[in-house]
This record gives sequence, C-alpha cells and structure tokens, in this order.
Amino acid sequence: ATPIAVLVGTGRAAQLGILVTGPEALESAEKIDTVVLDKTGTLTEGRMTVASVVTDEATDAAQALALVAAVERGSEHPVARAIVAAAGDGPVADDVRSLAGRGVIGTVDGVAVFAGRPAFAAEQGAELSPTLADAVAAGERRGTVVVAGWALGEERPRVRAVFEIADTVRAESAGAVADLRGLGLDVVLLTGDNAGVAEAVAQELGIGTVRAGVLPEGKLAEIERLQAEGRVVAMVGDGVNDAAALAAADLGIAMGGGADAAMHAGDVTLVRSDPRAIVTAVRLSRRTMGVIR
Ligand code: ADP
Ligand code: MG
Repeated sequence: ATPIAVLVGTGRAAQLGILVTGPEALESAEKIDTVVLDKTGTLTEGRMTVASVVTDEATDAAQALALVAAVERGSEHPVARAIVAAAGDGPVADDVRSLAGRGVIGTVDGVAVFAGRPAFAAEQGAELSPTLADAVAAGERRGTVVVAGWALGEERPRVRAVFEIADTVRAESAGAVADLRGLGLDVVLLTGDNAGVAEAVAQELGIGTVRAGVLPEGKLAEIERLQAEGRVVAMVGDGVNDAAALAAADLGIAMGGGADAAMHAGDVTLVRSDPRAIVTAVRLSRRTMGVIR
C-alpha cells in the first residue's frame, strides 16, 4: 500500500506543476545525490535560431537552407525547427531517416542530403574543405553547429554548408543550479552538443562537471557509470536523445514541452519547462519521505 504521505506529496507535486507517474518516483528522489542536466531545451530555451550560414563557392546559402530544411521538416529537434523557420515553406525530402543526437538524411530531387553534427558528416564519408573546417571551429566557440552536404555526380558527398545555431540560456537556470548545489547535490552537464558551447553554458551557470559531444547511448552509459560509483542519480532532459538516460536514472525528470519519448521515459514531467521545478521536486520528496519515517 502507498503511504498516505506519499499520496499527499504526489498531489501537492501536481499542484506545483510536477506530474509524478508512480509513488515510487518520490521515494527515490529523496536519496538523490547527483543531478545530471541536459543542455539544449533543459538549461536553454531550446528555441534556436540560425545565426549564420557559411557555404563553399559553388553553393548558394539560400539554396542550401532550402535543401536542408527539406530533410529537417519532419524532425522535432530544436536545430531542425530553427533551420525550417529560417527557410520558410519549401519542398519536403523523401526517405528521411533521423538518427537521434546525430542528424538526418533524406532525398531531394534524387540527391541524398545529410545534415547533422560535424562527426556525422565524417560518418557519411563526406569531404570537408579547410575553409569550411575553419567555419566549424569558429562556430563551435560560439554555439551549436550543423553541417550539411550532398554529392553532385562525385563519388563522395561534400560538406557544402555550415550553420551556426544560437540558443538562449533560460533565465531560471542559474538560480536552479545554485539551489540544487545548496541542497548538497553534485551537478553535471551532459550534452550531445559541442564542448565549446557546453563549457560556455556551464561557466555561466556555475556547473563544474561537463560531458560534451555525448551520443544518446553515451548519455545512458554516463548515468550507469555514476550509478556504479554508488551515486543515486536524477537525470533531467527533454529530447529523444535523453530517453534512454531518463529511463535508466533513479529519477528521470522530463521537461514539459519536450519530446513525447522523453516524457514517457521519465518518472516525473515538469508541466512548465522551468528548471526551478527540479529543485521543488527534490525538496518535496525529501519533505514527504521525512514525514513517513
Ligand atoms: P543535446 O544533448 O544538447 O540536446 P543532441 O544530442 O540532441 O543535443 O544533438 C547533438 C548535436 O547533433 C546537435 O548539436 C546537432 O549538431 C546534431 N543534431 C541532432 N539532431 C539533429 C538534426 N535533426 N539535424 C541536424 N543536426 C542534428
Ligand atoms: Mg535536449
């Protein structure tokens, strides 16, 4: 039977915009000593915009944007939304395949177009010119970088466009991180994005431990590694790429407004995508379990 205090705690949580899937969720939250935070859409708004497009001499930036938007239209990733918004209406690619945390591939007018993290281009066997490699390096000092390319008769595809994507840190994130540390919790930033932007966000928020460039399976592995150290881990995320890590964590917290896969994998969903609710969830759980003992 579920102790009444837990039921009351669950009801109070709901009033505060914290939806708990089962009463066990609050029980584990009480023992949490480590909180792992995703970056994009969790600590940042996730309302990304295209800040710049750099192309090779043979490629028109507007055309590149239209082609890449064609493959991104079906994706709910914030970078995809940014690219589609910048391009406006246009064609939709065929045979689109989306690889969580990596990128997308599709066919536009018979041409296979890919877009994704720089490592994804290498996985596609794409050539990267020194000029565009410089654009990647410069972009990664400032923000999120997506590279895109295709083959025009050549054997190997070529990277033809580098997109720099900007995001904004949520106004509530710094306070939430400070409060989590105030509760004695270790805070870790875990992101699929590049190390440059991850370090910048971590520094702004006072987070000392950063794991960047981590693929979805790597996010899961990091949670398991922390648990193997004897830690009790809460993971907070919003994306398809966070789902496995959310499911493996002792407490999986999904940001409201994120991907359905994240909400299904989590134990708790924050109705408002406000990181301060993470602190509320931990506090409430401690108080609830304190009443029972
Ligand atoms: P995060 O952990 O910050 O939420 P992700 O793991 O979702 O980031 O993505 C990591 C990187 O993979 C992105 O910064 C981007 O470069 C690339 N990426 C992911 N999905 C897409 C997509 N749909 N289109 C282009 N690039 C993508
Ligand atoms: Mg995210």
